[in-house]
Formats: sequence, C-alpha cells, structure tokens
Amino acid sequence: MTKSTAEAKPPKLGAKWRRLAERRCAAANARLTPARLGAYAELLASKRPVTAYELIARLEESQQRKIAPLTVYRHLDFLIQVGLVHRLESTQSYLPCDHPEHTHESQYLLCSSCGAADEVESKPLESLLNTIADQRGFRAENTVVEIKGLCKTCKSDDSD
Ligand SMILES: [Zn+2]
Ligand SMILES: [Zn+2]
Repeated sequence: MTKSTAEAKPPKLGAKWRRLAERRCAAANARLTPARLGAYAELLASKRPVTAYELIARLEESQQRKIAPLTVYRHLDFLIQVGLVHRLESTQSYLPCDHPEHTHESQYLLCSSCGAADEVESKPLESLLNTIADQRGFRAENTVVEIKGLCKTCKSDDSD
C-alpha cells in the first residue's frame, strides 16, 4: 500500500455543495454532468485557488487517466457561468464560490504567503466603484478587486 494510492481517489462532494450545484445548474437550465461535477469537487477539495494546469494534474491523478486541457477549460467556463466558481485575474487561478446561493460580485483578500483566498462580497464597495466610474462617464464591465497581503494566520507567524 503506497501513499499515492490513497491520494488518487476522486474527492467526494458534500451533500450541501452538491445540492447548491444542482440548484445553480437548474436555474441556468444547464446539465450538471459527472465530469463537471468532478472538476467542481476537485476545486472544493483544494485549500487554495488552483490554476487550470494544477486542476488538470489533480483530475488526472484522481481519475488515473489523461484529460484534454481544453475539456477542463470548458468545465471551468461552465462552472463560472453558473456561478459556482470564480476566477482570480491576478493569479489566473480558480476557486469555488463561498456562497453560490445567489449571483454576486466578489472582492478577494489573497495571502501571498500561504496562497489562501478570502472571498468578500461588499455591496458598499461595489456601489462606490460603480459611482466613481459613473461620475467619469465610464461604463464598467468587469471590476476586479484583489488585495494581496498576509492572512491572519501568516501575519501572526510573521511577527515575533
Ligand atoms: Zn462567490
Ligand atoms: Zn496565509
């Protein structure tokens, strides 16, 4: 028995997340295929955002087969579209939404030490940014707020 055999199992998706995923797909009139669900479960199992290539490697390891990168990109596009997954622009990585019950804009606190991403949904910040754009006659299409720094845990490890 080797360690890698134990790790090479596809992650299980918790009942709560499965229900949320089914609801989002139903609302979007889209089908939640096993492959889409597999990619979503893999993202949920990760402690930090992963790049598409990291996700491909994880899926290949847990499913013990080659997976075409394009397929995984399609799954990611789908998961983003239905609101289950978000994409971080600054690191070109993906993370599951904390609260996919409703569509929303998000802001992120990204730890540069451990790689953790904290999703924040601040309505006041969102409307402030829209107001600023409006005042300048600018039509905002895609607002990205990603704050880099140290998370609570890493910050306290840092200070001695
Ligand atoms: Zn979200
Ligand atoms: Zn950290």
